[in-house]
Amino acid sequence: MTEKLYDKDAYGHEFTATVLNCEEDKKGFKVVLDKTFFFPEEGGQTPDTGTLGGLEVVHVSIKDDVITHYLNEPLEVGATVTGKVDFDHRFLKMQMHSAEHIFSGLVNSRFGYNNVGFHLSDNSATMDYDGKFSYEEALELERKVNEIIVEGRKITAVYPSKEELAALSYRSKKELTGPVRIVTVEGVDVCACCAPHVRNTSEIGVFKITSWENYKSGVRVNYLAGFRAIEDYERRLSDLREISRTLSFKQGEELAGVVKLSKDLSDLKYKEVELRNKFIDLKVKSEKTDGENGVCILPSDFSSNMKYACDALKELYPGVRTVLCGSDEEGYRFYAESDTSDLTELLKLLKEKFNVKGGGKKNAIQGTILAKSGEIRNFL
Ligand SMILES: [Zn+2]
Repeated sequence: MTEKLYDKDAYGHEFTATVLNCEEDKKGFKVVLDKTFFFPEEGGQTPDTGTLGGLEVVHVSIKDDVITHYLNEPLEVGATVTGKVDFDHRFLKMQMHSAEHIFSGLVNSRFGYNNVGFHLSDNSATMDYDGKFSYEEALELERKVNEIIVEGRKITAVYPSKEELAALSYRSKKELTGPVRIVTVEGVDVCACCAPHVRNTSEIGVFKITSWENYKSGVRVNYLAGFRAIEDYERRLSDLREISRTLSFKQGEELAGVVKLSKDLSDLKYKEVELRNKFIDLKVKSEKTDGENGVCILPSDFSSNMKYACDALKELYPGVRTVLCGSDEEGYRFYAESDTSDLTELLKLLKEKFNVKGGGKKNAIQGTILAKSGEIRNFL
């Protein structure tokens, strides 16, 4: 069993310890100490980072109360080593985790729902609940969490005796055996938890829900707290500044600018379709021949207009209408329709004569053809 120094002191981050064991496996060297400040991956939270004996700790796990530190190089068994936890990294998680307790406590007292899933990594944080509440209700609780942060309430972590525990009403995700660590946010929440927490709610600084969604039979809430929320805020402001700069919007008018831009874009797309159709109509009419069968050759970037071109041909040609889209160098996509001929026969002939891939039915075929447009036109 490893002595968990972080249990009693969430702020301690430098320590000396004795190496009890060091084994090599696929993940590197597994080092067990007599005691550690490194919080392992546990309870949905990713582990602490830092160094041990000057070597980077790449992962920390716990099993049967033994904490294992993973290193890329070995440490000598019996040696005394200095451990340094990256406290800036640890503190961000403490802010995040303590905020989660307050929010989950409020969800529980207001709706009676339980926090049934918690995930806290360096990139994301999610809280899952076993009942539904709306985004507006979540925002009301967010406001309440921030009030509790401002009130500066104490957060404590203790191991109560069996008798004390039996008399205690507390939240817990699973049935617990052995000593239970109870984290209390004064007047707000009592919850079984193994992780380090801040000692006062004021240290959380700020709590912000970033997204909310229906999840299984309840909801999943993504959130940020403390310095991570500030970093995210700055990143979003920076994005907004970049958008304003790129699109020449005045500060504060970004949304109106984007709405106008979006409308302008859809107007332009509509006009583009109109122009393309006009171009096709003129092309089909100007190239009118006396034959039964008509062919229209379109530039490469007209592939979405092939059906329209085929319909335009239909007004002038009673036989086979073929549209080619592409170039002599790259080849053509083709689409053909007919109400009178069996086009599967035509496809067979095309395949005999040219390098053709494609398929279709009696009255419509499509595919690709590698040949010069003049040759294809003559063949058709
Ligand atoms: Zn917890």
